[in-house]
Amino acid sequence: MNRPPATPPRFTINDTTLRDGEQTAGVAFTDDEKIAIAQALDAAGVPEMEIGIPAMGEHEVGLIRAIACSVKRSRTMVWARMAETDLAAALRCGADIVHLSVPVSDVQIERKLKRDRAWVLATLRHYVDRAADAGAIVSVGFEDASRADDGFLAEAACLAQSRGAIRVRFADTLGMLDPFATHARIARLRARTDIDIEIHAHNDLGLATANTLAALAAGATHASTTVNGLGERAGNAAMEEVVMALRHLDSFQGAECGIDTAALPAISELVARASGRPVAASKAIVGDAVFSHESGIHVDGLLKDRRNYENFAPEEVGRQHKLVLGKHSGAAAVIDRYARLGHAVGPQHARALVERIRDHVMHTKREPTAHDLTRFLAEENHSWKTA
Ligand code: MN
Repeated sequence: MNRPPATPPRFTINDTTLRDGEQTAGVAFTDDEKIAIAQALDAAGVPEMEIGIPAMGEHEVGLIRAIACSVKRSRTMVWARMAETDLAAALRCGADIVHLSVPVSDVQIERKLKRDRAWVLATLRHYVDRAADAGAIVSVGFEDASRADDGFLAEAACLAQSRGAIRVRFADTLGMLDPFATHARIARLRARTDIDIEIHAHNDLGLATANTLAALAAGATHASTTVNGLGERAGNAAMEEVVMALRHLDSFQGAECGIDTAALPAISELVARASGRPVAASKAIVGDAVFSHESGIHVDGLLKDRRNYENFAPEEVGRQHKLVLGKHSGAAAVIDRYARLGHAVGPQHARALVERIRDHVMHTKREPTAHDLTRFLAEENHSWKTA
């Protein structure tokens, strides 16, 4: 199913459903669920995944080790603070990359850590060196990068690179940026260092996907995402949205992430079930209703040529258009539906049936079943004959 791209993807998805996604208040995956999600992401070709926080204890270390072993193609990453116990636990997990996180905004450095910028730089140097000495591949996370000083952020990124880190993560921890600010911030960081940059965007203002794309347009190389946008508070950038946007937005010229997009609905369902967070019907890409059409004008246009009202083919994500009969349906949809049921209906009769269907939907708040439609037709036929 999943063809390897001809050239290496320009952008790498690092899915953090199993770390930030599970950090969502009230969400706790069982071991089996975590392993099943990891295997589904791996099978779909997700190139990287963050699989947990080793500092949570022995059980989690064991689970992370099991996931790291079970994953065949994806690179795995574990999340740790810059602290001895965190690093020691992270090094025992057998993951491919150790991610070491530190706050970089003055507000968090001073009010949360009670430290200063010099301490952050010294700590960063110490822990990246320690991890690298232990043979780990290291990524450095900048918590609350949105509120950090640009110059300090660049200094920290250059230091991380000079100590051997392969990547820095720009975390919009509080979801406070917009796409324009994100683009400007990442472009400024990009101009000061050539280390890989990962964007980690939160959705507090509904902008996580937009900010992620803005960062990628400005020079970020990696996107931290979660399935269904699961994550702390309003969640993270949704993996399915970022992947499909990269493929379909003109700005990215069909950028592929190497992910089998037809697998996305099943993964979405798996995560929805395991997290106890159902997906809204209108959720982009994976919502139940996002390929449903009812309005007469749209359905008529779709039936004439799908390109009239189709941005991308639902088949790309293993789905199909659904034509819903309802209050806004027109004659074309009614004729089409009856034809599928084996009844030829002319335009004149279709108009009468539109009225029947409209009445039905307003009274019952649901779409007519095949049985309802057959009954409407029989009743209308009777009145046409007796008229
Ligand atoms: Mn986060």
